[in-house]
Amino acid sequence: MKLTRTVAETREALEAPRDAGERIGLVPTMGAFHEGHLSLIRAARAESERAVVSLFVNPTQFGTGEDLDRYPRDEARDAAVAEAEGVDLLFAPSAAEIYPPGFDTWIEVGELGEILEGAARPGHFRGVATVCCKLFEVIQPALAYFGRKDAQQVAVVKQVVRDLALPLEIRAMPTVRDGGGLALSSRNRYLSAVDREEALKLPLALAAGVKAYRDGRDAVSVACELLKGIDVDYVTIADLDGPTLAAAVRIGSVRLIDNLRLEEEAT
Ligand code: AMP
Repeated sequence: MKLTRTVAETREALEAPRDAGERIGLVPTMGAFHEGHLSLIRAARAESERAVVSLFVNPTQFGTGEDLDRYPRDEARDAAVAEAEGVDLLFAPSAAEIYPPGFDTWIEVGELGEILEGAARPGHFRGVATVCCKLFEVIQPALAYFGRKDAQQVAVVKQVVRDLALPLEIRAMPTVRDGGGLALSSRNRYLSAVDREEALKLPLALAAGVKAYRDGRDAVSVACELLKGIDVDYVTIADLDGPTLAAAVRIGSVRLIDNLRLEEEAT
């Protein structure tokens, strides 16, 4: 596996394979790999000739007072995991490489970037959209893989790709959950045992909401009922690349998001 740190060496490393007609599959990540990330990497490997993973904790998608400083970072472990998974190239740039001094060009996402996570985290999707566009430009993937765990992110990235006619396809992969149903997230490590018990109510509430919806009842009120006593940020139905029951809650010091699609079997 090749490890690159700069835009120039990444472009250079990918030039020959691209010229040879190989399709590049990109998995953008912020590291701290878990099975959710691995599912995306495996999909990229299965479908593209070159699997590229980016590892970049993108500062511009964190707001003031958010957890940028304590976001888990373990590049050595992530690099070993990526190599073991057969990743061809790991792009792990510094913040200064992506945002050199004087950087001041941004991708502004419209309404879709302002609701839900965008309302709770102003500027979040501007940061996501900007870094994704830069990664797409540097790596020029034919395919890029995102997790439905972040359903609004999938919808935003698809919107950007459509609006700017970017020459790649976005693949949205199912949410990977632990044995209790909790969606895997690098932030789960900050949940205490008691917090974890509380956190398990989130997937249960969403599953009950989806079931209620399919029975012709109100998904949001059913889910809210099961989340009583928890600090709920939002529970709502939104078109996030398809009708979706989405929620965000705070448990201890951790903000968790999760969602289920209304028109597929709950997973
Ligand atoms: P992150 O490193 O948290 O930015 O996530 C990188 C990619 O992995 C994003 O496309 C996420 O949506 C995806 N991802 C994170 N957690 C999961 C999960 N539990 N299941 C599937 N994909 C996930």
